Amino acid sequence: MSTPSNPLKAVRGTRDLLPPETALWNRVESIARAVFSRYGFGEIRTPIFEDTSLFARGVGEETDIVSKEMYTWEDRARAQSEKAQSLTLRPENTAGVVRAYIEHKLGDTGQLQKLYYIGPQFRRERPQRGRYRQFWQIGAEVLGPTTSGSESPLRDAEVLEMLATLLDELGVKNWQLALNSVGSTEDRKRYNAALREALAPIKSQLCPDNQRRAETNPLRVLDSKEPADQALIDTLPKIADYLDEASRNHFAQVCAALDSCTVPYVINPRLVRGLDYYTRTTFEFTVPDGSGLGTQNALLGGGRYDGLSEMLGGPRAPGIGFAIGEDRLILTLQAQAEAPAIEPRTLNLEPPKLDAYIAPMGTERNAAALALARELRRAGLSVEVGDGSFRLKKSFEAADKVARHIIILGEDEVKSGILTVKSFATGDQFKIVSEEIASRLCTAKQE
Ligand code: AMP
Repeated sequence: MSTPSNPLKAVRGTRDLLPPETALWNRVESIARAVFSRYGFGEIRTPIFEDTSLFARGVGEETDIVSKEMYTWEDRARAQSEKAQSLTLRPENTAGVVRAYIEHKLGDTGQLQKLYYIGPQFRRERPQRGRYRQFWQIGAEVLGPTTSGSESPLRDAEVLEMLATLLDELGVKNWQLALNSVGSTEDRKRYNAALREALAPIKSQLCPDNQRRAETNPLRVLDSKEPADQALIDTLPKIADYLDEASRNHFAQVCAALDSCTVPYVINPRLVRGLDYYTRTTFEFTVPDGSGLGTQNALLGGGRYDGLSEMLGGPRAPGIGFAIGEDRLILTLQAQAEAPAIEPRTLNLEPPKLDAYIAPMGTERNAAALALARELRRAGLSVEVGDGSFRLKKSFEAADKVARHIIILGEDEVKSGILTVKSFATGDQFKIVSEEIASRLCTAKQE
């Protein structure tokens, strides 16, 4: 039992999003939806929890996500005969999208599927700024049978160009796109062998974490942020030298298409992904330090894959996808809006003013006030209704804080149908018949 001196709080790593900040979240999401629809994406909503085996198979048992970070529970059986089922809160959305693609036989259409999602994901990570246990991702997947063109480098370039457009339209400043190709599974086998060989003589000089990675998954050494190891890691072989001709050609076409769209990028030979089904293009968008995120935190990441659908029991469906960390995107927008160097100020974090505040004079006018509010709201206006127990001065003060007009509703006004209105912007006060107030305020809204 909680006592007043010990109030309950949101669980560590989770947080409440309150107005006016939620207005920014909504703005971000509506811009994302608008951009995605211009590129032919439709929305998919998959369940927030799935069978645990979906993530074990689709994300990979050996990943940090699956081995340490998932919220998993045994869902109780309803009947004695029923077995309990292991369920998991989704730690990411690609596996769910591919499961739905298989379950609804979307591949049978023969069409390329372009699906986007917006929703919460759950990982038991160490909470810090920009890293939460419930966080939001805005992501998309482009996938389909090979005959739909799902392997084309054009798709990769289109997704990257779309992300550049989205970040620009959101007003994100100074974003950087880092790009690499991790080749095919065979390319990576050869590269892994070369990495192991190169790591063997220098392994003992690396930090314990990297020594372990050198044994278990040498690709992950490249991801390491350990400052003391950077110089040595930079001497390791580069995957670009191990790509076969088809992979090299694919990557060259992605880069050429980005060049022709004038989307800037840098090739980062250390940008790799550990799972087998990742192929060819991998990418990350970051913002410079001081934009609200630590240097270690990317705004979004993604890559091309082939083999994921088969791992989940479906037909071959190569694709490319990305996930934007929405929390980090919002932190970035807020931090950049506050940075004095960045002009113009693109964000208005003040709550928007309502069109009108109706001030009933006396509680007998409350009912009439609500009826007037209904009429104005149905006309598309945003309205707050005051309280009949407020004195006139208090009503004016309350109205001035939240609305652009105050409408006084006293006994005379209700009887005569002639309302008294004041505009806070101009200071004008005028009388108007109640039938005309809605259109008058609608006109004022457009001015
Ligand atoms: P991932 O699914 O790990 O490739 O992550 C994609 C994006 O989601 C990252 O670039 C982050 O922006 C975001 N992200 C991942 N984990 C978290 C987290 N714990 N809290 C907030 N954002 C996250």
